[in-house]
Amino acid sequence: MAMNVTQKIIAAHLVSGTLEAGSPIAIRIDQTLTQDATGTMAYLQFEALGLPRVRTELSVSYVDHNMLQSGFENADDHRFLQSFAAKYGVHFSRPGNGICHQVHLERFSRPGGTLLGSDSHTPTSGGAGMLAIGAGGLDIALAMGGLSFNLNMPQVVGVKLTGRLQPFVSAKDIILEVLRHKTVKGGVGKVFEYFGSGVAHLSVPERATITNMGAELGATTSVFPSDAVTRRYLAAQGRDASWSEWVADADAGYDEVLEIDLDQLEPLIACPHSPDNVRTVREVAGMPVAQVAIGSCTNSSYTDLMTVASMLKGKVVADGVSLGVSPGSRQVMEMVTRDGGLLDFIGAGSRILESACGPCIGMGFAPPTEGVSVRSFNRNFYGRSGTKNAAVYLASPETCAACALTGVITDPRDLGLAPIHVPVPERFLVDDRMVLAPAAEGSPVDIIRGPNIAKLPTGQAAPANLQGEVLIRLGDDITTDHIMPAGAKVLPLRSNLPAISEFVFHMVDETFPTRAKAAGGGFIVAGHNYGQGSSREHAALAPRYLGVRGVLVQSFARIHLANLINFGILPLTFVDAADYAKVQAGDQLSLDLKGLALGQALTLRDATQGLDIPVMPQLASARDLELILKGGALSWASEQLEKVS
Ligand code: SF4
Repeated sequence: MAMNVTQKIIAAHLVSGTLEAGSPIAIRIDQTLTQDATGTMAYLQFEALGLPRVRTELSVSYVDHNMLQSGFENADDHRFLQSFAAKYGVHFSRPGNGICHQVHLERFSRPGGTLLGSDSHTPTSGGAGMLAIGAGGLDIALAMGGLSFNLNMPQVVGVKLTGRLQPFVSAKDIILEVLRHKTVKGGVGKVFEYFGSGVAHLSVPERATITNMGAELGATTSVFPSDAVTRRYLAAQGRDASWSEWVADADAGYDEVLEIDLDQLEPLIACPHSPDNVRTVREVAGMPVAQVAIGSCTNSSYTDLMTVASMLKGKVVADGVSLGVSPGSRQVMEMVTRDGGLLDFIGAGSRILESACGPCIGMGFAPPTEGVSVRSFNRNFYGRSGTKNAAVYLASPETCAACALTGVITDPRDLGLAPIHVPVPERFLVDDRMVLAPAAEGSPVDIIRGPNIAKLPTGQAAPANLQGEVLIRLGDDITTDHIMPAGAKVLPLRSNLPAISEFVFHMVDETFPTRAKAAGGGFIVAGHNYGQGSSREHAALAPRYLGVRGVLVQSFARIHLANLINFGILPLTFVDAADYAKVQAGDQLSLDLKGLALGQALTLRDATQGLDIPVMPQLASARDLELILKGGALSWASEQLEKVS
């Protein structure tokens, strides 16, 4: 069978299943990555598995998110991560070395390999021909333990690129064009694979900009072939041995094809508050800009930053504009410094930020009230910048530079500059001393646990009879933010389950944690679309810590449903929607689990109302059923690992 790149990589890693789109498959994972905001919990989960070392080809722990150290919490997390990495066989990229995705692309990506990362922009390494997928921390912990990753075989969308990018039009404009066509919902269950004659004209960092922001399509991942361009890039990184060729067979097919003529493409911009709200820059030109931010894992390659430096050279940013630059990696920061770009940035009045996520997640450099911020980043959701009423626009580094110079949204072609061509260096500055290799022997290494690092409780098998009171009764569209809020107060507690659990449902009812603990757990009852929003696993983990064992609703959001099962909380829906109105807060419920089976309704007893209520456990597979019976994926995985060791 003729295969595209996606199918070839999956076929080479297939543990179970077939290549038929939509069918369940399990694949072997070669590499994992974590960042600090999700990594601490993933590593606590790995510890709970009881293994002496990771079983992957390579696992890397990065520190790039929670960099502000206004208290001890983040610094404690960083030390925990470093000592964990040394003990368990994980490479540790120290704070200051750069953003996980950019550093991974530069130093560790391997064409044809699989990468699972606890961050949604893990697909960045798809620019170097890897199948790189973002997932929850628990999935990363299991992959580090050598277990396969389960997903449905994706459909493959072929994006055919022809022609060549014109001056001041960049890779960012390609992915904005894809988002304009496919929207933020258009990629669910799909891999976007790039092919066609235009691919050969794109460098690996340009390809990585595209696969990075492919995450905004909701896609499983995005991938480019590994070709002569990839080979040159890896050689320039001193990694010739990592290269192998991965190209689609000549007659390979795709489930659908989107064609983009690069000659015709023009500078694009995503308007507030969604990455698919795309217009041409000329359509919104003239709007006053208060802030410009250049960097992030999407757009801070050497070429990106040197192109901007060249546009700024000898000029000063417009009076009303604050320009922030956050290079994506230490490698790029050093090279831009060595080659004079930093002087151009400083001379133009830029504010040089550290090599980390920073403004992308509202960690410093928030825009002013109702200010327009133009960013080379990948997300512009409401409030993400740190200023709730700011209007964030997403564009290429070239467009960002043009806006910084003029003070209004400006198409870079309208500056009248001569075309700028910054080639990919033939040799990057390679210095991996900021990546610490693990200790050769893990057992003598002690893990440093500050007071912010709490041990993870192990799951208990489900009782034969689930009993408890309705701790809270909610309406429709409860988000993971309602369940487990984020923000500067709560985020640093992500590695401290007892502490973060004190904030469960704080936006709705501050007494919930105290009541749940006093009652020894119980049930949550809600309406439709319970758990919508992010993939935040703490929204399941923290209620489970407080003793919640059952959630009874009219319907669930998909990812939260999976998280509930992963942490041993039984998800239930009302068979008769009208029963939702009958169950009240404080009611005493009991559910006999002896008959728990796939597709079988159970009878819930509401002793307070004197009612028997039919409910349907929302379990889709034998694995789901086993996870619930064992008390969650951690307990289940420990048994699986015993079987394979
Ligand atoms: Fe996520 Fe932004 Fe950091 Fe990239 S730069 S990893 S999008 S927070």
